[in-house]
Amino acid sequence: MPETVFSKIIKREIPAAIIYEDDLALAFRDVNPQAPVHFLVIPKKPLINLADAQDEDQALLGHLLLVANKVAAQEGLKGFRLVTNNGAEAGQTVFHLHIHVLGGRSLNWPPG
Ligand code: 5GP
Repeated sequence: MPETVFSKIIKREIPAAIIYEDDLALAFRDVNPQAPVHFLVIPKKPLINLADAQDEDQALLGHLLLVANKVAAQEGLKGFRLVTNNGAEAGQTVFHLHIHVLGGRSLNWPPG
């Protein structure tokens, strides 16, 4: 998988506001926030997106959801939304799997 800005953030080659890290995952604030709280949860493993994940990634994918939950609580969010854009057609622009976590304001559904 080619280098992305997120693999460079993992290696600390470019700066980011990192708010959580463990052996498997990293969470950092989105540089262009779409809500008062908007952070991204990524695996350190270089998966392109959800469609790139395999059965062997089951525990890792579950871990990412639990990290999202933990960091949302750390950020004081009661309600929050998770989004993962899978593929360019769905709006994915960085090709390293990431879960957007948005909160801190009312979120309409369905989104515009
Ligand atoms: P996507 O469109 O792929 O679902 O989301 C990519 C997200 O990454 C966007 O919300 C964008 O603002 C964010 N992003 C892109 N480059 C950087 C960066 O260098 N640093 C941070 N913190 N976020 C980035």
